[in-house]
Amino acid sequence: MKVRVLGCSGAIGSSPDAAHDPGGTTALLVDDDIMIDAGTGVAVLSDDELARIDHVFLTHSHLDHIAYLPLMIDAVGDARDAPLTVHASRATLDILRAHIFNNLIWPDFTRIPSPDAPGVRFEALEVGECFALNGRVVTALPARHTVPSMGFAVSSGQACLAFSGDTTTNPKFWAAVSALPGLRHVIVETAFPDTQIALAHAAQHYCPRLIADDLSGVGMKAELLISHLKPPYGAQILDELRAALPGVNLRALQAGEVLMLL
Ligand SMILES: [Zn+2]
Ligand SMILES: [Zn+2]
Repeated sequence: MKVRVLGCSGAIGSSPDAAHDPGGTTALLVDDDIMIDAGTGVAVLSDDELARIDHVFLTHSHLDHIAYLPLMIDAVGDARDAPLTVHASRATLDILRAHIFNNLIWPDFTRIPSPDAPGVRFEALEVGECFALNGRVVTALPARHTVPSMGFAVSSGQACLAFSGDTTTNPKFWAAVSALPGLRHVIVETAFPDTQIALAHAAQHYCPRLIADDLSGVGMKAELLISHLKPPYGAQILDELRAALPGVNLRALQAGEVLMLL
């Protein structure tokens, strides 16, 4: 199993920190058929790559995580003979139905080209639920954000990667992650520097101090890969994380990198 980072930025626009290239907003490609979130990072995929995606797992409904979903469903319709399956919490799916696929912002592709053969089908899943796909297992993990949200773990059977989605203080996530067999990497968001802790609380994101609080007493051996950095603050956030988490193996996640989970 491999995980390709299509985008992992907290915003669009290039970062002034050339050492850190997060690409567009959040999107991860697992092998060639499973996507986790569908932010603007999806723009790097070709038509053929888009058409091979059978399953999209969404952490939540915010635009930076779903922006390319409506467009990709439309783009691959002619090339596919089965609907794309979107997996998310029931609350997130209800939001997508009401506010995106409502025939105003975008057509209701759950009913076109026809209700019997639609472009997309929605499948609800709950935190703690596992979904097996040809030897890979996707597990929904708890998250705490301003809208209903979840993280995901993907496992090959031998090795596992966990992804926090958008979250703030979340001890349940770390407890669940610590119990995952074969855990190699944890992609964790850190949207804000500590100087913006009030904003982190208001927007329900992490800043370094809040991650350090959650990780005290958790023996984290897996590599932490930091995502969702707000571009002007990337280097500052990483410096603060390294100071707050001495001895923890961490670095910024990069767009284009491929994590092998064998
Ligand atoms: Zn969000
Ligand atoms: Zn986000």
